[in-house]
Amino acid sequence: MTSAKPVVGVGDGHQELRTRIRAVCQRFPDRYWRELDTQRAYPDAFVAAMTDNGLMGALIPKEYGGLGLSLTETSIMLEEVNRSGGNAGTLHAQMYTMATILRHGSEEQKRKYLPKIASGELRLQAFGVTEPDAGTETTRITTTGRRAGDHYIIDGHKIYISRVQHSDLMVLLVRTTPLEDVQRRSDGLSLFIVDLSQAIGHGLEVKPIRVMFNNETNELFFDNLPVPEENLIGEVGKGFRYLLDGLNAERILIAGECIGDGRWFIQRAVNRAKERVVFDRPIGQNQGIQFPLALSHTHVEAADLMRFRAAELFDAGKPCGPEANMAKLLAADASWEAANAAVQTFGGYAFASEYDIERKFRETRLYQVAPISTNLILSYVAEHVLGLPRSY
Ligand SMILES: Cc1cc2nc3c(=O)[nH]c(=O)nc-3n(C[C@H](O)[C@H](O)[C@H](O)COP(=O)(O)OP(=O)(O)OC[C@H]3O[C@@H](n4cnc5c(N)ncnc54)[C@H](O)[C@@H]3O)c2cc1C
Repeated sequence: MTSAKPVVGVGDGHQELRTRIRAVCQRFPDRYWRELDTQRAYPDAFVAAMTDNGLMGALIPKEYGGLGLSLTETSIMLEEVNRSGGNAGTLHAQMYTMATILRHGSEEQKRKYLPKIASGELRLQAFGVTEPDAGTETTRITTTGRRAGDHYIIDGHKIYISRVQHSDLMVLLVRTTPLEDVQRRSDGLSLFIVDLSQAIGHGLEVKPIRVMFNNETNELFFDNLPVPEENLIGEVGKGFRYLLDGLNAERILIAGECIGDGRWFIQRAVNRAKERVVFDRPIGQNQGIQFPLALSHTHVEAADLMRFRAAELFDAGKPCGPEANMAKLLAADASWEAANAAVQTFGGYAFASEYDIERKFRETRLYQVAPISTNLILSYVAEHVLGLPRSY
């Protein structure tokens, strides 16, 4: 591969921060991620390097030992990790899950957990929401938490819960008041901090699910798992509201990852298009190769502007639901479009793992589905932005 002129994005500000992230990412080249992908292994060395640089605690305020960065800055961090050819899933998970404690946890919980998460002593990268019979309709979950003295006893079943085997703590959503006893379906759900080292094998069984890219995902079976009352986050019954509170931030973080993927695909494809000679000319001289790359680059850039708009509003404490949702949708679509354009540019070589296109192609496909699907974002925009009737 030649060292072609890098493709520069219109939103390529924050150069100091980008340089800092790139310096860490350079130590983890393609072959590192490729090897992990083959083995379906957790990126221990990458997480350790990010931790050593304070970056795993980027969103944690300074008073709790973190860097206290803004959401704009943290979304750039995730972008740079994906743009380097890596995968920011661990970073994203820690930021998102930790933020629930930061926003709604007691002062005691914050002091107990946040400094250790910032220092890397504890990993909080698992968030248990999805269930086999509830899926997207979260308020239908049937995993329950029933009060027994100074504990809650958890029973039920979750699916697709990531990083449980590589995390010390998990935030778990359960129903604490039966659906038939609440006024609104979103009432009666509660969030708990589960200490995984104590839970696994003592009421929590973990069954791994192999998925199409390197993401440790599991089915969880809860059978009389005791969780101390002091691990309840915020008020009992308000867990769904706490979950919703974090969604805009998560959408913006995911948009950053998608933009990073989009830029990676475009850069690799542009390099290849300049180098690969067929019919005595570089394939990139053909408009059939140029136009899909130019179009997907344009879409990545547009998504980037919406990402920064959403992040700017979020950091200013202003409402940003429409912008955060649209940023996530535009960015996920743009990265998927760029992935397809890269496959077409590489031709048969896209399918060989040594070129990494197929690995990133599998990774970026997720963002159309999880943590929120494109359909649900469109429903949000239709209902909350356009004022159309609720469709579900
Ligand atoms: C690799 C991976 C990692 C994951 N990690 C986690 C995790 O750590 N924690 C966690 O809690 N969950 C996790 N998930 C689960 C993920 O959040 C869900 O898969 C996702 O929310 C969709 O739920 P579902 O799979 O049950 O789809 P379903 O709810 O069965 O929906 C299937 C399809 O139907 C569409 N659909 C449903 N209702 C409507 C409607 N009203 N209008 C239009 N379309 C509709 C959906 O958009 C979707 O495309 C993970 C999933 C994957 C694949």
